[in-house]
Amino acid sequence: MKFIVDKMLGRLAKWLRLFGYDTVYFTEGSDKELVFESVRQQRILLTRDKGISKRKPLKIIFINSEKFAEQIEQLKSDLKIEIDTKKIFTRCIKCNTPLEKIEKEKVKDKVPPYTFETHDDFSYCPKCNKIYWQGSHIELAEKIIEKWQ
Ligand SMILES: [Zn+2]
Repeated sequence: MKFIVDKMLGRLAKWLRLFGYDTVYFTEGSDKELVFESVRQQRILLTRDKGISKRKPLKIIFINSEKFAEQIEQLKSDLKIEIDTKKIFTRCIKCNTPLEKIEKEKVKDKVPPYTFETHDDFSYCPKCNKIYWQGSHIELAEKIIEKWQ
């Protein structure tokens, strides 16, 4: 299941990536281009703009709420999306690229000293070089997962 998310739903796009879903966050371009990309890349379009359906995207989900928790609830009920804890932090939140593992020693000068001391598992994005570890995001993610189960 792959997504393309319109610019009004940035937070949702980041979280879908955090949960390991391949998600394009469409921030520049017209509605026409957004729909074109959804069809070309076979992605489910997530939007809060009802006018977009007239352009016949592949599959569209109208996100009803402005509230993030309710948006997640809606995706859960409409699409039966599931959160797999093993997939958290497998994709870059910034650019959607699959993350790769990196040895702890190699990140020593790239993360804060406290983070280095208190974590063993690090990943990085081969495209934008951002480094990830199981930090505050994971706790928040676990809270969301708990709520879901
Ligand atoms: Zn990246």
